[in-house]
Amino acid sequence: MKKALQIVKFEEMEKKTFEVTLITERLCEICDKKIDTKEKTMKTIHISNRKDYDNLLTRAKAYDHTEVDIKNNKIYFHNHDYPGEIHPSCIEKL
Ligand SMILES: [Zn+2]
Repeated sequence: MKKALQIVKFEEMEKKTFEVTLITERLCEICDKKIDTKEKTMKTIHISNRKDYDNLLTRAKAYDHTEVDIKNNKIYFHNHDYPGEIHPSCIEKL
C-alpha cells in the first residue's frame, strides 16, 4: 500500500533500503492534461538514521508529491513535465 511520505514515520523506514522510481506525467501544452507517463528507476536509498530520513524529506520537496510503499520497500517521486507536445485532439481545436 502506498502512503504519502509526509505521513510515514522515520521508525517505519529505519534500517531499510528503498528502490526509488521517478514517475513523470507528461502534460499537454494546451489543456494541461496527461499525454503519457514515464517511469525511471533511480538510485536506491538506505535510511540508516534520522539524517537520511530528513534528507529524503528535503529531496521530496522538489517533486509534486512523494509516496512510500513500506511493504515493498519502494519510494515513488511524482513529477510533471511539458515536453512541448500536444494531444492530436487539441491540435484540431487550434
Ligand atoms: Zn491536450
